[in-house]
Amino acid sequence: MAPLSWRFDNRYARLPDALFAYAKPARARDPRLVVFNETLACSLGLDPDLSDRAQLAALLSGNTLPEGAQPIAQAYAGHQFGHFAMLGDGRALLLGEHLCPDGQRVDVQFKGSGPTPFSRRGDGRAALGPMLREHLISEAMHALGIPTTRSLAVVATGEAVLRENILDGAVLTRIAASHLRVGTFEYVAARNDPSLLDALIAFTIDRHYPACREAERPALALLEAVIERQAFLIAEWMRVGFIHGVMNTDNMSLCGETIDYGPCAFLDVYDPATAFSSIDRGRRYAFGNQPQIAQWNLARLAEALMPAIDADGDRALDLAQHAIERFGDLFARYHLDVMRRKLGLDDDTRADDDQADDAPLIEQLLDWMQSRKADYTQSFRMLGEGLIPAERLATDTTLSDWHTRWQARLNRSKRSAAETSAAMNANNPIYIARNHQVEAALEAATGPVLDIVPFEKLLTVLRTPYAAQPECEAYAAPPPPGGRPYQTFCGT
Ligand code: AMP
Ligand code: MG
Repeated sequence: MAPLSWRFDNRYARLPDALFAYAKPARARDPRLVVFNETLACSLGLDPDLSDRAQLAALLSGNTLPEGAQPIAQAYAGHQFGHFAMLGDGRALLLGEHLCPDGQRVDVQFKGSGPTPFSRRGDGRAALGPMLREHLISEAMHALGIPTTRSLAVVATGEAVLRENILDGAVLTRIAASHLRVGTFEYVAARNDPSLLDALIAFTIDRHYPACREAERPALALLEAVIERQAFLIAEWMRVGFIHGVMNTDNMSLCGETIDYGPCAFLDVYDPATAFSSIDRGRRYAFGNQPQIAQWNLARLAEALMPAIDADGDRALDLAQHAIERFGDLFARYHLDVMRRKLGLDDDTRADDDQADDAPLIEQLLDWMQSRKADYTQSFRMLGEGLIPAERLATDTTLSDWHTRWQARLNRSKRSAAETSAAMNANNPIYIARNHQVEAALEAATGPVLDIVPFEKLLTVLRTPYAAQPECEAYAAPPPPGGRPYQTFCGT
């Protein structure tokens, strides 16, 4: 019996072959299982057998291919920092589509499994640190309740990977609703092949948006549906202070999952201009820019879909533009909803004035946080727990004025104080993947004396982000003062 019971049915590989290239995982010299997500394996119906870790490592490095797998590299293009490029999986392989017991279909992808026809000058490899980082942060996002790709395992390959230093190589097994991206459509648009575009539209609709099939204009309905899910997703990122860091169009998934954890990180001090990525010098992908960038990316999707929206170019442009313009309102609605939940402001109050006043109330709090360099996560949680120190309120009139108005608004709601607090706490995490904690855990896990324990401990804490865990105060704390500004690097 194989240690993982995959059930593959590879529909993407049956699409026209312009959309992918066959490739095989590189042989790993000495694969070693570093982390394995048993809960996820069980929920996928894999019946994991952990008794033979060597066999598991062979499977999850690509040394042994499971029955039914058909490894391919997917073709795509993308706008990277605003510039168009033909890309494709340069260091990833889609192993196949697995059918879960509940009928759900998921992509199983190796990341870091060696060169593909799309690798160009890259080596197709990934280093252990960045793969552990993706594992940790994607699982943390899942626990926060945010749509995301998952990580099933990270295997160290025993191969050296040359970056600025020599690093341990690794393969991450990524589970996603799919790997269809805005860039997949940009790739098809660049090839100017109407039948390929139709095939990809039909595939995407079947996979993620079956209701669009019945629409008068399925391509337009698809665009609108993707816009809606992205507006929701970005609002959810902003709820927890998540900065994706590299929102290129090839890193925007059509099904509305967070994908491609490279230079991402969580805010500590609230400042919408925060950008951690070392290569994002213009702060294109800063925290507060994420909605505008999402809309820009969606406009690239709209352009790619236009030939299928209407044969008349002017009409297609009109319809596409109208759909893109709606993103602003959609996002504003989701964002208001998210921030209301963070502040315990119910929306069933009968007073229309309260509804209208909520947006400025939220704005004023954010302005206060920015001016006081307050920690985003901690501030909201303290508000929900009623833990703002009395002396703070006594000495900061901006805060106390705001607090009085907030309390008055809460008093007009039908909820009890306990209900408000519970509602807030369900939306304001105690534990996020704090940059200094992530670094410490990765350093231990990739250092000369490999110690995975701090990583596993952090992962465990992040799996229950909304509930206080005993003796875990340190994981909730902002970074110690006086440290250098945090920087992230692309996981290449
Ligand atoms: P990313 O920044 O991870 O979204 O990757 C952007 C593009 O670069 C994708 O086409 C990747 O497949 C490719 N790429 C990233 N790292 C490597 C690598 N080490 N070898 C080959 N291709 C890579
Ligand atoms: Mg990418």
